[in-house]
Amino acid sequence: MKNYEVVVIGGGPGGYVAAEEAAKYSQSVAIIENKYLGGTCLNTGCIPSKTLLRHSEVIELMEKAKRWGIEYENFTISFEKMMKRKTKVVESLRKGVESLLNQANVDIYNGTAVVHTNKQITIENPNGSETISADRVIIATGSRPAVPSIKGLDNVTYHTSDTIFDMESLPSSLVIVGGGVIGLEFACIFSALNVEVTIIEMADGLIPGEDEEVAALISKELKKKKVNILTSSGVNEISEGDNGKLIRVKLSSGEHISIQADQVLIASGRKPNISAVSELNLTMNGPFIAVNKQMKTSFPNVFAVGDVIGGWQLAHVASAEGIVAASNACEIFKEVNYKAVPRCIYSSPEIASVGLTENEAQASGLPIRVEKFPLSASGKAMAMDERIGFIKLIVEETYGEILGVVMVGPHVTEIVTEASSFILLEGTVNELAELIHPHPTLSEGIWEAARAWLHKKNTLVNLK
Ligand code: FAD
Repeated sequence: MKNYEVVVIGGGPGGYVAAEEAAKYSQSVAIIENKYLGGTCLNTGCIPSKTLLRHSEVIELMEKAKRWGIEYENFTISFEKMMKRKTKVVESLRKGVESLLNQANVDIYNGTAVVHTNKQITIENPNGSETISADRVIIATGSRPAVPSIKGLDNVTYHTSDTIFDMESLPSSLVIVGGGVIGLEFACIFSALNVEVTIIEMADGLIPGEDEEVAALISKELKKKKVNILTSSGVNEISEGDNGKLIRVKLSSGEHISIQADQVLIASGRKPNISAVSELNLTMNGPFIAVNKQMKTSFPNVFAVGDVIGGWQLAHVASAEGIVAASNACEIFKEVNYKAVPRCIYSSPEIASVGLTENEAQASGLPIRVEKFPLSASGKAMAMDERIGFIKLIVEETYGEILGVVMVGPHVTEIVTEASSFILLEGTVNELAELIHPHPTLSEGIWEAARAWLHKKNTLVNLK
């Protein structure tokens, strides 16, 4: 039986980055993946969604350009070609992950792994089964869509994020159950393609847990795109009607309505894949595998990272945890620092935040003051005709430490990293105001917010 120093289970951003990292420490490494390398992120998550969102962005831009004098007769949309491009992007990146692992001398096994208590690992695939053994194991088996129990759902066809990227034709209408990040991104993708979209969310606003002002703004923007948003509402039943699916909804008012839709997308959360470790009797954190800051589970020499441990459920966090797990598995002590994790939503407009939310900062008991710079006052935003959005700084009042930043607007998912650096390095609003930003850029908005914050502080001091 072949033995490896490190075996990684799951080839997503947590797993393949962990395998590559362990190999850098000259370990013999294997990775086991039962579907596609790249995991959810590359195959049914981050990458295909962002590829389709790019199409929506261009369509919206073309509509807007008509107002600038860039006029054209008509344009047509080929959903088939868009989906083909999406598949090409995914396949090419998947090959990239494979060649990265090959270059790092990581052995790749295809199949479903089960870890036994003696650290032997059985790998099963349609061609049979084989067993390898490991000195140390990293579990990176990720998560899958959680499907709520809704009356009738078992008897109708519906999509999850695992299946929707294989859709062959554009639906005329789509009901999205769940108004979180995933639901929001799909609403933007399909509404730009002229699909009639309805979002049904149980909480009293979209993207529960995020900045309330942001949630209100994005709701307003989605409504402008003719997305029907039902919050504080629950789906009671789904059935197959004569003209599509019939979705029975209980509204916040208590009233019941029926919505007819061509397709239904269930986007109401994700649950961890834990069958690989069922024999290990691991300590759990709710449904997720419990780990310490070095990513160690309760079983000696077994580590876990990414969506399977819960928490952020973001690809970049899974990779950061993968690096930490691999380092500790190779006896290099590391811990994950979650202080400056950027949270991005690629809606239109985009949303990006890092550090504490305003509510969290208020609850911390620290004296805080918030400053907001509206993009309507940004030269670059005006030039781009993208004036919807703002940049909000959440700052500790006494020393001026930046605790959190929230941004809404074009490309904010790219510029949020500046805010992350300040938060990680405990930068202050004074330092931010002194940092020379290029002009004209959207990132100047962060600088403007810092200057406004300081100006108001000085004004307050002078008044005393
Ligand atoms: P995964 O990527 O889920 O990989 C785990 C892999 O393990 C899978 O390939 C699975 O098949 C395999 N596996 C499971 N069990 C076994 C077993 N027993 N044996 C062998 N293999 C096994 N995050 C972002 O940061 N940015 C985004 O823009 C973003 N967009 C998203 C959009 C959508 C629609 C979705 C669904 C998710 C998105 N995410 C995004 C979340 C991101 O995809 C996940 O956080 C990330 O993929 C988690 O990485 P992971 O390595 O933990 O698990």
